[in-house]
Amino acid sequence: MCGIVGYIGNQTAKTVLLEGLRRLEYRGYDSAGMAVYDRDGFNVSKKSGRVANLAMEVGKRELEGSLGISHTRWATHGGVSDSNAHPHVSSDGKIVLVHNGVIENFGDMKRFLLTKGYTFESETDTEALSNLIAYHYEKEGRPTNGFSRFFMAVRKALRHVEGTYGIAALCVDCPEEMIGARKGSPLILGVGQDEFLLASDVSAIITHTSNVVYLNDDEIVSVTRDKFQISTSSELGVDAIIDTVNWKIEDSEKGDYPHFMLKEIFEQPAAIENAMRGRFSDDGSTANFGGWNLSPHELRQIDRILFTSCGTAWHACLVAEHLIERFARIPVEVEYASEFRYRNAPLDKNTLVFVITQSGETIDTLGALREAKRKGYRTLAISNVVGSTIAREADGGIYQHAGPEIGVASTKAFTSQLVIAAMVALYVGRLRDMSFASGVKMVEALKELPDKIGRVLKQNDHIKDIARRYAHYADFLFLGRQSMFPIALEGSLKLKEISYIHAEGYPAAEMKHGPIALISEDCPSVFFASNDEVFHKVISNIQEVKARKGKVILVHAESCDVPEGLVDDAIIFPDGHEAIIPILATVPVQLLSYHIAVERGCDVDKPRNLAKSVTVE
Ligand code: GLU
Repeated sequence: MCGIVGYIGNQTAKTVLLEGLRRLEYRGYDSAGMAVYDRDGFNVSKKSGRVANLAMEVGKRELEGSLGISHTRWATHGGVSDSNAHPHVSSDGKIVLVHNGVIENFGDMKRFLLTKGYTFESETDTEALSNLIAYHYEKEGRPTNGFSRFFMAVRKALRHVEGTYGIAALCVDCPEEMIGARKGSPLILGVGQDEFLLASDVSAIITHTSNVVYLNDDEIVSVTRDKFQISTSSELGVDAIIDTVNWKIEDSEKGDYPHFMLKEIFEQPAAIENAMRGRFSDDGSTANFGGWNLSPHELRQIDRILFTSCGTAWHACLVAEHLIERFARIPVEVEYASEFRYRNAPLDKNTLVFVITQSGETIDTLGALREAKRKGYRTLAISNVVGSTIAREADGGIYQHAGPEIGVASTKAFTSQLVIAAMVALYVGRLRDMSFASGVKMVEALKELPDKIGRVLKQNDHIKDIARRYAHYADFLFLGRQSMFPIALEGSLKLKEISYIHAEGYPAAEMKHGPIALISEDCPSVFFASNDEVFHKVISNIQEVKARKGKVILVHAESCDVPEGLVDDAIIFPDGHEAIIPILATVPVQLLSYHIAVERGCDVDKPRNLAKSVTVE
């Protein structure tokens, strides 16, 4: 949530910042703003709404400065308005700041600063920090060991912050310095040729450089035109590791697709191929994970696995639960990360804690991971973003290698999480009861997956036609059993996220315990079925809906013997091993939600109130 871009170099900052903000806009789109150091002071522009509004505004200004910071906001404190947009300038005009996160003690700060004569123009928590930095700059700041007075003031102010922040700051007296810092919210430094960038994620800097420093929590970086220096709250000047990012620019562009979401849906065969590449054993009977950091012996000591996560990734956890219990026979629990971190749940000492997060920055998942680590549990992470905070902090992990996911509604990241969950079930299963022959069968099934997804994607026009006929409904139910229940949840989430239609996901049999009251001609149901032991039960549930005049779309496996004329519409996916069925069943509902949202004229890639990568609580 929220995108930060800062620039110092020899290009026009305004152009670099706008391009970066456009690439980060998926992180928040309530307002956008920038401050460029031009001639002898800041030139600040901010506008509520999209980056395009800001671009119009700054387009009118002649701004030649080559130092600047910028922000695209996802509002937490204070409404969506020009005055609440970032950057925030301290009331004495000395400090300008952009911020991602929440300053929890901003009320206390504000009261203190008011007594010192500072004033406030916005309702944000952020403005308290810009004034606090100004306060320390004026009252106590002095250069120390080669670090500027500005730097020392930022470092001092940050000691008083309770909450989370990723920040970029400028000082009116320092035309040659930009400062960045983070705690709980992401911030990276791009190290280019004669230029440096601060950014919330790689997509904003990839056109400039592939060399990045992933800042750690509690680090502050001072960036001048020819060097950068990292410090912490306790140490001035610490070593930095420069990593190389292997993304291509095209990965984060739409190409010929009308939306990122559609592009990412169609990228799923490749994303799944990448998740599996090099991860099967030579004998073709199990999976291998390089960064797992847990020996087979240690894994055998595990009695229980806890998966914890948020949103779509939480649905991936539910599928993982089903697959691991089924194939590896280890009890699995699934918890919302936002609950787990505060719940103080009693866990067995031989519990392995697994988190799943596309961005690797989801704040609640990070909080849950840290809580589990603090209690001494072994932790593993499945994540898509190399070098992300969660990937670095977990004891071990598995990268998804799905490529950047820009559409706010997750698609390819979800199915790639499911394929990794299946491989985890296979790997752990093979260490326990699963036979060589069963392992080989599962590996072969997984390898067929990209091709089978390709076959589902070929039904795009058919699904679009269904979407056109159902787009006017105000309510939907999504119903499935066993491993299809999480897919029902995911289908309903996808639909509400991007089309704003009310939708609920339920285990199909639970329908009788309440949701059936909603069934009428005006509330269609999307059912999921495969050719398994509960198929006939699902058919009975469909009959119950039809008896009440509900319309039914059935997403089902090819070999299912669906009674003639029972359902109103059907979307068929290829048959396959139980491990891959949830993935095959997901793709049709991604397309269905997408086309319904387009039909309703919704902004598919930037749905209202949402943002990618939830970095605030
Ligand atoms: N808390 C700040 C605000 O509401 C920053 C939110 C963000 O991360 O975009 O302005």
